[in-house]
Order: sequence, then structure tokens, then C-alpha cells
Amino acid sequence: MRKVIILGSTGSIGTQALDVVRRNPDRFEVVGLAAAQNQELLVGQIREFMPPVVAVSDETAAAELRASLERIKGLKNIDIVSGPQAAEEIARDLEADVVLNAMVGAVGLAPTLSALQSGKTLALANKESLIVGGELVTDLVKGEPERLVPVDSEHAALAQCLRGERREDLRRVVITASGGPFRGWTREELAKASVKEALAHPTWKMGPKITIDSATLMNKGLEVIEAHFLFNLDYAEISVVIHPESIVHGIAEFRDGSMMAHLSVPDMRLPIQLALDYPNRMPSGIQPLDLAAVGKLTFEALDRDAFPSLDLCYRAGRAGSTYPAVLNAANEVAVMAFLEGKIPMTGITEIIERTLDEHDPVSVVSIVTLERADAWARRRAAEIIDAR
Ligand code: MG
Repeated sequence: MRKVIILGSTGSIGTQALDVVRRNPDRFEVVGLAAAQNQELLVGQIREFMPPVVAVSDETAAAELRASLERIKGLKNIDIVSGPQAAEEIARDLEADVVLNAMVGAVGLAPTLSALQSGKTLALANKESLIVGGELVTDLVKGEPERLVPVDSEHAALAQCLRGERREDLRRVVITASGGPFRGWTREELAKASVKEALAHPTWKMGPKITIDSATLMNKGLEVIEAHFLFNLDYAEISVVIHPESIVHGIAEFRDGSMMAHLSVPDMRLPIQLALDYPNRMPSGIQPLDLAAVGKLTFEALDRDAFPSLDLCYRAGRAGSTYPAVLNAANEVAVMAFLEGKIPMTGITEIIERTLDEHDPVSVVSIVTLERADAWARRRAAEIIDAR
């Protein structure tokens, strides 16, 4: 039995992870859940999976949850941990084999660090942990990289392409991008894109933050930084190609010119399942790929003028120190402003760029350095939005 903690259990990745657990009851046991929203869904998850401990960041929501569990037979002994550090606490204090971090945004960093510090394996879906705190995170798994397992589909694909290969044989990796709902649009057209259009992703079904990041291609840039830290690659060794079918998820290119690619239907339950029990594969109930039905796979270069987010990510990644944290924080604020109708979609990268331009970098010595840079960037990005 693998004891599993799921952080962000009511989100898109969290619910799919619980589906993986549901299909493999003899393999996984849920020992802790953390959720920030959707009380009703969380109560349903508690009833079904009976985790002994549940973490809820908001105190009012925790009180409501305690009251609802009181009324349900057999659930009143479930321990509700509450407060802003609740997820971090259960990731550290509970006995478990693996922590799946499926939280959204930079708030996922502290739980990532506490899971790794306490010796657990981390299945990482919260890419912001690596964008913001890549150096701190990778320091914790020096000499035991198998404790940090990617859940992001592209990185899970690359990890599989690199299995058993020698590092010195690797020339570069290629991350694929579907191109999102606005593939082929010009910058002028993108300025008029609506929130509804941006939320309609052609191939992947995901939460709103990452769906907007996919529409701006920011998500792909963040994945470049993520790959840099996960696989210890220079930025020159990471490239991106548009692949609208979302069948090939990652490609490793070797010094002899060979390329190894990973193919599957786009279904996050595959990387989730692999990460929860890495490196074991299990029957998943997911439709295998019907290559004849797919017919053809296409690839094209990314339009870097229409989508400047990728270059911003390379720039912040190469600059290092607190720049990636600032990039991420400005993006989180700008995405929210776009969802609220305050700025056009193209405003997102403009705000990120200005925030990066104005940033005075600090070398990263602790999470406090990063929290300060994050707070500064959020404040500055909000000011830039208000002044527009
Ligand atoms: Mg991805």
C-alpha cells in the first residue's frame, strides 16, 4: 500500500488523482487531503476516501467543515487542520510515502519544501514550486532525484524518454505545446480575445489559471523553467515546438541524432498514476492511442511575436535569482486581472515584462527572500494594472 497525501484535492488534478486512487484501492490509501475551496466536493471526498486528516487553509471554511462532518455518521473523528500553513503541516507531519502537490500558484512552494524536508517523495503538479523556488527544491533532492517526480505531462513524458539513458548522450529536450485556442492568431487579434474564448482549450481540460496560461503560452514558458530544474538542463538545451494534436508530449534528442518521443492520449491520469507509484505502471482504464484514427501528427514553430511569453520565461529563467519568482507572481496577478475583465489578454505579458524590468534581483538564500520578491511583484503588478 502506498500512503498518499493529496494537496489541492478539489481541483482538476486533485479530483483526477482521486479517480486514480478509486481505481486502485489495493495500491493506494489516502492519509491526508488539503483543499482551499469547494466544501461540498471536499465533504464527498472525505466520505469516500476517509482520510484521517484534512487541511483547510481558511479558518471559517474549516469551522463550517467541522460542523458538516459532525452531522455525518462516522466522520466526526476526522482531524481538521486549519490555517494558512495547514497544507504545509500535513505534508510535513503525516506519515506517508508520497505527497501529490496539486495546489495552484506560488502558495504551493512551502508545502513542496516541507514534503521533501520530511523525506517523502513528491509528485509535483504545482509547477510554480519549481519556477519560484527551483534552487531550494532541487537542493533538497541532491543525490536522490527520484524523490521529485513530475506530474506535468510534458515532464512526465521526458522522464520516461530519459529512463535508462546516459546524461552525456542527451543533446536537448523538446517540449510540445498544443498552441492553445489562439494558435495562428496575430497580436492584434489576441488583444481582442475574450475570457470565454481563452477558457476553451482545444485538447486539455484543466483549471482556469493553467487554461489561461495555456492560451497565452505562458504555461509553456513556465514548463521550460520547470524542465531546467527537473532535468538539470541549460536553457539552450530546452526547446518548444507547437503540436496541435497533443499526442506527443515530450521528446529527448541524443547526440547521435536519435529522438525518443512519448505518445499518449491527452489524459492527466496517466502522469498522475505514474507519479504516485513511480516507476510502476498500472492498468489505467484510459483508452490506448489509436494511431490510425489519429491519422497524422503535425508540428510547427511557435510564433514568438504573437506570443512573447515564451521569451519572457527564457529571459527570467536565464537571469535566475528572484526573476522567475517575480515573473510568476506578476503572471498570477495579471491572469486574475484578465479573468476579472480588467485587462486584455495581451496585457498579461506587458505587465510581466514591466515588472521584470523594474525588479532589483536578490540572491535566493531562503524562502523568505522568495516571499519578499513575490510580494513586491504582486504589489507592483497590481499598481501597473490600476494605472492603465
Ligand atoms: Mg504541461
